Amino acid sequence: MHELGLVVYVIDAVEQLAKEKNLTEIGSITLELGEVSSVVPDYFKDCWNYSHKKSDLLKNTELKIEIIPALTVCSDCGKTYPTVEFKKKCPHCSSDDTYLLRGNEFNIKEIEAC
Ligand SMILES: [Zn+2]
Repeated sequence: MHELGLVVYVIDAVEQLAKEKNLTEIGSITLELGEVSSVVPDYFKDCWNYSHKKSDLLKNTELKIEIIPALTVCSDCGKTYPTVEFKKKCPHCSSDDTYLLRGNEFNIKEIEAC
């Protein structure tokens, strides 16, 4: 459970930005979350719901989470496939020599002022 730490990180980052841009209220924050990142969206939302009300800047902010589907690429045949379905084994040539192309993201994509 490191979601609370990440929520604190996001809140700090947004508060910092708001200070630089003289924003007094944030309408919404959009996060990009990789499908196989270690962050559990529901836990993250729970931590968010608990934390953001303590901040004047963020108490009315809506949290949006966009999930990025995980994609793995095969080193042997060069094809890509959905990671969650086939894990580390390439469904095209059965190679194990594969690596994650995307799906491990944790990004603040968008911050919308009121
Ligand atoms: Zn392959």
